[in-house]
Amino acid sequence: MLVRLLYASRTQEPITAEEAGDIVRDSREYNPAHGITGMLCYSDRMFMQLLEGGRRQVNSLYARILADPRHHDVILLDYEEITERRFADWTMGRVDLDKQNPSLLLKYSATARLDPYSMSGKVVLELLEELIHSAVAVPSP
Ligand code: FAD
Repeated sequence: MLVRLLYASRTQEPITAEEAGDIVRDSREYNPAHGITGMLCYSDRMFMQLLEGGRRQVNSLYARILADPRHHDVILLDYEEITERRFADWTMGRVDLDKQNPSLLLKYSATARLDPYSMSGKVVLELLEELIHSAVAVPSP
């Protein structure tokens, strides 16, 4: 059975490209081996991640991520059983939200500053899909 999980979290300090790169590297080692695809986005002090895969595998990875001291205030935005993946082409990509056109964020939220804590999970999912379709989200090297 396949599930899709979407969460957001915060960091104490601004996320550096190097830190984000470390996490993407971890993900690209672990996730494909466990049949997990998805997308990691970050902005100044915030992560958003979407994971798709088998229920057991996704739940188990989420438990590891929850325990990670590099972030806090993890909020589960959406969790659902799915019949097919929407992000099947990805092992794990990243999007730097601070480099996006503000009008894209304004389309989905009250201000051009992304705040997933005040958005519905479904709306955040739509935003992520648009990021992919507008080709601003690139798989990490
Ligand atoms: P170990 O590598 O044995 O590490 C032990 C503990 O230290 C763990 O709690 C670990 O989280 C923490 N830790 C590891 N590296 C650092 C570091 N550089 N600084 C501080 N603490 C550290 N991993 C994936 O495999 N796939 C993902 O999709 C994924 N997404 C993530 C998204 C976010 C926003 C974050 C913050 C982390 C993500 N990780 C992901 C990393 C994941 O949380 C674990 O660090 C990783 O899976 C290794 O877990 P481990 O149990 O083997 O811990």
